[in-house]
Amino acid sequence: MTRGLTTTVLHADRQSPIEHGSVHKPMHAAVAFGYAASRDLAAVFQGEKAGHVYGRQGNPTTSALEAKVSLMERAHGTVCFSTGMAAIGSMMVALLRAGDHVVSSQYLFGNTNSLLQTLSAIGVAVSLVDATDADAVEQALQPNTRLVFVETIANPATQVADLAGIGELCAQRGVLYVVDNTMTSPWLFLPRSVKASLSINSLTKWIGGHGNALGGSVSDTGLFDWSAYPNIAAPYRKGNPANWGLQQIRKKGLRDLGATLSAEHAHRLAVGAETLALRMDRACDNAMRLASWLQAQPGVARVAYPGLPGHPQHARAAELFRRFGGLLSFELRQGIDCFDFLDALQVVIKSSHLGDTRTLSIPVSHTIFFEMGPAQRAKMGIAESLIRLSVGIEDYDDLQADFAQALARVGA
Ligand SMILES: *Cc1c(COP(=O)(O)O)cnc(C)c1O
Repeated sequence: MTRGLTTTVLHADRQSPIEHGSVHKPMHAAVAFGYAASRDLAAVFQGEKAGHVYGRQGNPTTSALEAKVSLMERAHGTVCFSTGMAAIGSMMVALLRAGDHVVSSQYLFGNTNSLLQTLSAIGVAVSLVDATDADAVEQALQPNTRLVFVETIANPATQVADLAGIGELCAQRGVLYVVDNTMTSPWLFLPRSVKASLSINSLTKWIGGHGNALGGSVSDTGLFDWSAYPNIAAPYRKGNPANWGLQQIRKKGLRDLGATLSAEHAHRLAVGAETLALRMDRACDNAMRLASWLQAQPGVARVAYPGLPGHPQHARAAELFRRFGGLLSFELRQGIDCFDFLDALQVVIKSSHLGDTRTLSIPVSHTIFFEMGPAQRAKMGIAESLIRLSVGIEDYDDLQADFAQALARVGA
């Protein structure tokens, strides 16, 4: 019987015995793991036996979180990292070689965009296209395209990628299809439902949810044929091909690059995951109501939220996602200073980060997208006055009242 996401997460640790009947997998702080028989140590090293050898490649607490993420994503397996960027960067370094080509979205998370620039400086060609259209992705494909990387809902302007169309295309061409599921989380969307090969989550965001721990994950949906992937090195072409990709990602990504998730943070993220569905439902309700209300205010020029019927990909979002997410962005009417407006907010925090229990707001062009400059921002559809909101789980009336008084204060 398949249980719901929340029941599954709450009872995941107990699927194998835990010391003292503890309801949480304990925090294992040990860096080294000893074996009574040296042959067992060798067998674990050689991948013949399951077990831990050295903390850089993981620890039992992180393994329990990996199992939980796999259950949430209905994935074949998962490797966790110290941050979402570590997960994306390690996955790419582990799977790409100089001379390879990557297709991604022109509406990409800023740090991922910057990471792709780093990769292109060391010999990986990158094409950024309008991922809301699978045809644009198809036209960018080359014989050496190894990987297509897209996000579900883009930050901050909320474009929704043509996830199903790109999935169909990648399946036909045998190209590895990587979906960054951070904005939606496995509660709103399962990348495997659109034939994704790998699903990435920044666990820092909705899954952890409380702004008190960083983490990231790479889950293998089990749909990709790794025996056809040319960049798997000989030592990882062992055993069931379904495991080859994650084997290489764990060894190259964790063992060699070392951005390892600590047991303490794995524990905090696992506790956060227990209430993912409850928090996200509330945040999505708040975001939907706030987007509709903001849109009706004379001081607001434009609201971008996939839940609004006027959003260009509203129908796609309604078809693919359980709900429309907790992220929205809006522009104030010309003449209203976005800094004055933000400073007038009392409940809402002026802060980077998203997917938190608290509502966070940020002037996008002056902060997270400042480094790329005005021309690139214009190309990504980011207005200079754009404000991004990550809507939290506060009581809705308090949020609306806060925005109402701030608009009144700046004379809107
Ligand atoms: C935040 C974020 C990341 C990076 O996650 P960190 O845990 O902050 O490193 C990656 N992708 C998306 C879509 C994000 O929002």
